[in-house]
Amino acid sequence: MCNVLIDTIENAKNKTVSVDFDEIIDGIDCVTPVQAHLQLQSLGEFIEVKGNVKTIVKLQCDRCLENFDYKLDFDIDEMFAKNALLEDYGQEYELKDGQFVTDLNGAESIDIYDLLYQSVIINLPNQKVCGINCKGKDFPTEENISDPRLDVFKNIQIQPKNK
Ligand SMILES: [Zn+2]
Repeated sequence: MCNVLIDTIENAKNKTVSVDFDEIIDGIDCVTPVQAHLQLQSLGEFIEVKGNVKTIVKLQCDRCLENFDYKLDFDIDEMFAKNALLEDYGQEYELKDGQFVTDLNGAESIDIYDLLYQSVIINLPNQKVCGINCKGKDFPTEENISDPRLDVFKNIQIQPKNK
């Protein structure tokens, strides 16, 4: 059950629903299931989703091309607008620093699975490096690069000028 109905949140005590999620998410190379503890609270026109997400994913190192496990542990704080109030702003706009509002466009539920998928993708590092000791692959150094166009220089002999 990955969808939480807006009605369920509205009718809950303190208009707050807790969701525990513990599943492998398709499209993410999970080593361990994505574990999330979320609170969904209705603030009237908005639903705020807050909580913590943990998982370990398999990434490929940009330098040595080996696979390595990468631990993710981050907080999310997302706002959803219940109605299409935000037409003028497009699909999402920034409410306060770094907090974006997603327009539900009248949808009756929030898709937790999709929210977590997006959150994990956003929180992956731009530079994937397996560790501080990564030596990288043995890419040829400049000296080893053999460019036939440069061979000509090897054969140049500099003749001392005759006096
Ligand atoms: Zn590496």
